[in-house]
Amino acid sequence: MSTAPKFVIGNWKMQAQHERGLTLAGDVTKALEDTPPPSHIRTVICPPYTQLSGVNHILRKHDLPTERISLGAQDCYPAPSGPFTGDISAKMLTELGARYVILGHSERRQNHGETDAVIRQKVKAATAAGLIPIVCIGEHLAERNEGRAASVLAGQIEGSLTRGFRGIVAYEPVWAIGSGITPSHEELQRKLSLIRALLPMRLMTDDIRVPVLYGGSVTSVQTPSLLSIDGVDGVLVGSASLEAQSFLDIIRAATEVPSSSPS
Ligand code: PEP
Repeated sequence: MSTAPKFVIGNWKMQAQHERGLTLAGDVTKALEDTPPPSHIRTVICPPYTQLSGVNHILRKHDLPTERISLGAQDCYPAPSGPFTGDISAKMLTELGARYVILGHSERRQNHGETDAVIRQKVKAATAAGLIPIVCIGEHLAERNEGRAASVLAGQIEGSLTRGFRGIVAYEPVWAIGSGITPSHEELQRKLSLIRALLPMRLMTDDIRVPVLYGGSVTSVQTPSLLSIDGVDGVLVGSASLEAQSFLDIIRAATEVPSSSPS
Protein backbone atom coordinates (compact mmCIF):
# COMPACT_ATOMS: atom_id res chain seq x y z
CA MET A 1 0.00 0.00 0.00
CA SER A 2 1.45 3.44 -0.89
CA THR A 3 1.76 6.18 1.68
CA ALA A 4 0.37 9.69 1.24
CA PRO A 5 3.24 12.16 0.66
CA LYS A 6 4.08 14.71 3.35
CA PHE A 7 5.61 17.93 2.10
CA VAL A 8 8.16 20.08 3.90
CA ILE A 9 8.68 23.18 1.79
CA GLY A 10 11.19 25.89 2.68
CA ASN A 11 10.58 29.41 1.40
CA TRP A 12 13.75 31.44 1.79
CA LYS A 13 12.07 34.61 0.49
CA MET A 14 14.70 37.35 -0.21
CA GLN A 15 16.80 36.31 2.74
CA ALA A 16 19.85 34.17 2.08
CA GLN A 17 22.87 35.81 0.45
CA HIS A 18 24.33 33.79 -2.41
CA GLU A 19 27.12 31.87 -0.66
CA ARG A 20 25.06 31.32 2.44
CA GLY A 21 22.20 29.92 0.36
CA LEU A 22 24.49 27.47 -1.38
CA THR A 23 25.97 26.34 1.94
CA LEU A 24 22.50 25.94 3.42
CA ALA A 25 21.31 23.86 0.45
CA GLY A 26 24.46 21.75 0.68
CA ASP A 27 24.08 21.15 4.42
CA VAL A 28 20.43 20.14 4.11
CA THR A 29 21.03 17.85 1.14
CA LYS A 30 24.07 16.20 2.68
CA ALA A 31 22.19 15.47 5.92
CA LEU A 32 19.26 13.99 3.98
CA GLU A 33 21.62 11.89 1.93
CA ASP A 34 23.40 10.59 5.05
CA THR A 35 20.14 9.75 6.82
CA PRO A 36 17.38 9.62 4.20
CA PRO A 37 13.87 10.26 5.50
CA PRO A 38 11.17 7.77 4.46
CA SER A 39 10.19 8.04 0.81
CA HIS A 40 6.82 9.71 1.50
CA ILE A 41 8.63 12.83 2.80
CA ARG A 42 8.96 15.39 0.00
CA THR A 43 11.37 18.22 0.72
CA VAL A 44 11.29 21.31 -1.48
CA ILE A 45 13.68 24.27 -1.28
CA CYS A 46 12.53 27.58 -2.75
CA PRO A 47 15.47 30.02 -2.92
CA PRO A 48 15.48 33.45 -4.59
CA TYR A 49 15.66 33.41 -8.41
CA THR A 50 19.37 34.22 -8.43
CA GLN A 51 20.18 31.05 -6.51
CA LEU A 52 17.97 28.61 -8.40
CA SER A 53 20.65 27.35 -10.72
CA GLY A 54 23.33 27.05 -8.00
CA VAL A 55 20.99 25.33 -5.55
CA ASN A 56 19.75 22.98 -8.25
CA HIS A 57 23.30 22.01 -9.01
CA ILE A 58 23.87 21.18 -5.33
CA LEU A 59 20.63 19.21 -4.97
CA ARG A 60 21.39 17.11 -8.04
CA LYS A 61 25.02 16.54 -7.09
CA HIS A 62 23.79 14.40 -4.22
CA ASP A 63 22.37 10.97 -4.60
CA LEU A 64 18.73 11.68 -3.77
CA PRO A 65 15.84 11.14 -6.20
CA THR A 66 14.31 14.36 -7.54
CA GLU A 67 10.93 13.79 -5.92
CA ARG A 68 12.59 13.42 -2.50
CA ILE A 69 14.33 16.80 -2.65
CA SER A 70 13.22 19.29 -5.24
CA LEU A 71 13.73 22.86 -6.25
CA GLY A 72 10.94 25.42 -6.19
CA ALA A 73 10.66 29.09 -7.13
CA GLN A 74 8.80 31.81 -5.28
CA ASP A 75 6.78 33.30 -8.15
CA CYS A 76 6.49 33.42 -11.94
CA TYR A 77 4.96 35.70 -14.55
CA PRO A 78 1.71 34.71 -16.31
CA ALA A 79 2.98 35.23 -19.88
CA PRO A 80 5.37 32.73 -21.50
CA SER A 81 7.68 35.46 -22.85
CA GLY A 82 7.66 39.09 -23.95
CA PRO A 83 8.72 42.59 -23.00
CA PHE A 84 8.19 42.23 -19.23
CA THR A 85 11.20 43.86 -17.60
CA GLY A 86 12.23 42.18 -14.38
CA ASP A 87 9.85 39.25 -14.71
CA ILE A 88 10.58 35.54 -15.05
CA SER A 89 8.45 33.03 -16.96
CA ALA A 90 7.48 29.58 -15.73
CA LYS A 91 9.45 27.97 -18.56
CA MET A 92 12.59 29.84 -17.48
CA LEU A 93 12.16 28.31 -14.02
CA THR A 94 11.90 24.78 -15.40
CA GLU A 95 15.07 25.43 -17.40
CA LEU A 96 16.85 26.05 -14.09
CA GLY A 97 15.55 22.80 -12.62
CA ALA A 98 12.49 24.01 -10.69
CA ARG A 99 9.64 21.52 -10.24
CA TYR A 100 7.44 23.69 -8.00
CA VAL A 101 6.49 27.34 -7.79
CA ILE A 102 4.89 29.22 -4.89
CA LEU A 103 2.09 31.49 -6.13
CA GLY A 104 -0.11 34.03 -4.37
CA HIS A 105 1.96 34.25 -1.20
CA SER A 106 0.39 36.89 1.06
CA GLU A 107 3.55 39.01 0.72
CA ARG A 108 2.99 39.13 -3.05
CA ARG A 109 -0.72 39.75 -2.66
CA GLN A 110 0.10 42.59 -0.26
CA ASN A 111 3.31 44.11 -1.68
CA HIS A 112 2.58 43.62 -5.38
CA GLY A 113 -1.19 43.96 -5.39
CA GLU A 114 -1.65 40.47 -6.79
CA THR A 115 -5.31 39.61 -7.20
CA ASP A 116 -6.88 36.17 -7.34
CA ALA A 117 -7.34 36.65 -11.10
CA VAL A 118 -3.61 37.31 -11.60
CA ILE A 119 -2.72 34.32 -9.45
CA ARG A 120 -5.05 32.14 -11.52
CA GLN A 121 -3.23 33.26 -14.69
CA LYS A 122 0.06 32.33 -13.04
CA VAL A 123 -1.33 28.92 -12.07
CA LYS A 124 -2.24 28.35 -15.73
CA ALA A 125 1.21 29.43 -16.91
CA ALA A 126 3.01 27.30 -14.32
CA THR A 127 0.95 24.24 -15.12
CA ALA A 128 1.46 24.69 -18.87
CA ALA A 129 5.22 24.81 -18.28
CA GLY A 130 5.12 21.60 -16.22
CA LEU A 131 5.56 23.19 -12.79
CA ILE A 132 3.54 22.17 -9.74
CA PRO A 133 1.90 25.32 -8.33
CA ILE A 134 1.77 25.81 -4.56
CA VAL A 135 -1.03 28.35 -4.13
CA CYS A 136 -1.14 30.25 -0.83
CA ILE A 137 -4.43 31.31 0.69
CA GLY A 138 -5.20 32.77 4.09
CA GLU A 139 -7.13 35.44 5.90
CA HIS A 140 -5.83 38.60 7.62
CA LEU A 141 -6.28 39.01 11.37
CA ALA A 142 -9.10 41.56 11.01
CA GLU A 143 -10.96 39.24 8.62
CA ARG A 144 -10.61 36.40 11.12
CA ASN A 145 -11.72 38.54 14.05
CA GLU A 146 -14.72 39.82 12.10
CA GLY A 147 -15.79 36.24 11.35
CA ARG A 148 -15.00 36.60 7.63
CA ALA A 149 -12.28 33.93 7.29
CA ALA A 150 -14.59 31.41 5.64
CA SER A 151 -15.73 33.80 2.92
CA VAL A 152 -12.14 35.02 2.32
CA LEU A 153 -10.91 31.45 1.89
CA ALA A 154 -13.85 30.57 -0.36
CA GLY A 155 -13.14 33.63 -2.53
CA GLN A 156 -9.44 32.82 -2.80
CA ILE A 157 -10.09 29.19 -3.71
CA GLU A 158 -12.70 30.13 -6.30
CA GLY A 159 -10.63 33.01 -7.68
CA SER A 160 -7.07 31.78 -7.70
CA LEU A 161 -7.40 28.10 -8.57
CA THR A 162 -8.20 26.88 -12.05
CA ARG A 163 -11.01 24.41 -12.59
CA GLY A 164 -8.58 21.66 -13.55
CA PHE A 165 -6.16 22.57 -10.74
CA ARG A 166 -3.43 19.99 -10.19
CA GLY A 167 -1.19 21.41 -7.51
CA ILE A 168 -0.87 22.12 -3.82
CA VAL A 169 -2.74 24.58 -1.62
CA ALA A 170 -0.98 26.15 1.36
CA TYR A 171 -3.23 27.57 4.07
CA GLU A 172 -1.24 30.41 5.59
CA PRO A 173 -3.21 32.68 7.91
CA VAL A 174 -1.53 36.06 7.35
CA TRP A 175 -1.52 36.73 11.11
CA ALA A 176 0.52 33.58 11.72
CA ILE A 177 3.30 34.41 9.24
CA GLY A 178 6.47 35.52 11.01
CA SER A 179 4.52 36.25 14.20
CA GLY A 180 5.45 33.21 16.26
CA ILE A 181 1.72 32.52 16.65
CA THR A 182 0.06 29.41 15.26
CA PRO A 183 -3.67 28.69 15.22
CA SER A 184 -5.02 26.33 17.86
CA HIS A 185 -5.51 22.71 16.91
CA GLU A 186 -9.30 23.23 16.85
CA GLU A 187 -9.13 26.34 14.68
CA LEU A 188 -6.79 24.71 12.20
CA GLN A 189 -8.96 21.61 12.06
CA ARG A 190 -12.01 23.78 11.31
CA LYS A 191 -10.22 25.75 8.58
CA LEU A 192 -8.84 22.57 7.02
CA SER A 193 -12.27 20.95 6.94
CA LEU A 194 -13.63 24.06 5.28
CA ILE A 195 -10.84 24.11 2.67
CA ARG A 196 -11.32 20.38 2.05
CA ALA A 197 -15.04 20.98 1.50
CA LEU A 198 -14.46 23.94 -0.84
CA LEU A 199 -11.86 22.30 -3.10
CA PRO A 200 -14.10 19.74 -4.85
CA MET A 201 -16.62 22.50 -5.57
CA ARG A 202 -13.92 24.54 -7.33
CA LEU A 203 -12.40 21.55 -9.10
CA MET A 204 -15.88 20.16 -9.87
CA THR A 205 -14.74 16.70 -8.92
CA ASP A 206 -14.26 14.59 -5.82
CA ASP A 207 -11.69 12.46 -7.59
CA ILE A 208 -8.66 14.69 -7.14
CA ARG A 209 -7.09 14.93 -3.71
CA VAL A 210 -5.24 18.25 -3.58
CA PRO A 211 -2.50 18.25 -0.92
CA VAL A 212 -3.18 21.01 1.62
CA LEU A 213 -0.29 22.36 3.67
CA TYR A 214 -0.18 24.62 6.70
CA GLY A 215 2.20 27.60 6.85
CA GLY A 216 2.85 30.25 9.49
CA SER A 217 5.56 30.23 12.20
CA VAL A 218 6.20 26.49 11.82
CA THR A 219 8.98 25.02 13.97
CA SER A 220 9.95 21.44 14.69
CA VAL A 221 8.12 21.70 18.01
CA GLN A 222 4.66 22.12 16.47
CA THR A 223 5.27 20.04 13.35
CA PRO A 224 4.09 16.69 14.81
CA SER A 225 0.87 18.19 16.14
CA LEU A 226 0.25 20.19 12.93
CA LEU A 227 0.77 17.12 10.79
CA SER A 228 -1.43 14.99 13.00
CA ILE A 229 -4.42 17.18 12.08
CA ASP A 230 -6.67 15.42 9.64
CA GLY A 231 -6.18 16.84 6.16
CA VAL A 232 -2.78 18.53 6.71
CA ASP A 233 -0.39 17.14 4.11
CA GLY A 234 2.70 19.11 5.02
CA VAL A 235 4.15 22.43 6.08
CA LEU A 236 5.36 25.56 4.30
CA VAL A 237 8.20 26.99 6.32
CA GLY A 238 9.63 30.52 6.19
CA SER A 239 12.15 31.63 8.86
CA ALA A 240 12.91 28.16 10.16
CA SER A 241 14.04 27.06 6.67
CA LEU A 242 16.92 29.54 6.78
CA GLU A 243 19.01 27.45 9.19
CA ALA A 244 19.95 23.92 8.16
CA GLN A 245 19.42 22.51 11.65
CA SER A 246 15.98 23.99 12.23
CA PHE A 247 14.81 22.94 8.75
CA LEU A 248 16.21 19.43 9.24
CA ASP A 249 14.52 19.23 12.65
CA ILE A 250 11.19 19.96 10.92
CA ILE A 251 11.86 17.28 8.30
CA ARG A 252 12.74 14.78 11.02
CA ALA A 253 9.67 15.77 13.04
CA ALA A 254 7.54 15.15 9.92
CA THR A 255 8.97 11.66 9.59
CA GLU A 256 7.84 10.81 13.11
CA VAL A 257 4.18 11.46 12.37
CA PRO A 258 2.44 8.17 11.58
CA SER A 259 1.82 8.13 7.83
CA SER A 260 -1.51 7.35 6.24
CA SER A 261 -2.41 5.80 2.92
CA PRO A 262 -3.81 8.18 0.27
CA SER A 263 -7.61 8.49 0.38
C1 PEP B 1 5.70 32.12 5.00
O1 PEP B 1 5.89 33.32 4.84
O2 PEP B 1 5.28 31.40 4.06
C2 PEP B 1 5.96 31.54 6.30
C3 PEP B 1 5.35 30.43 6.60
O3 PEP B 1 6.82 32.24 7.12
P1 PEP B 1 7.20 31.89 8.65
O4 PEP B 1 7.41 30.40 8.75
O5 PEP B 1 8.45 32.66 8.90
O6 PEP B 1 6.05 32.33 9.48
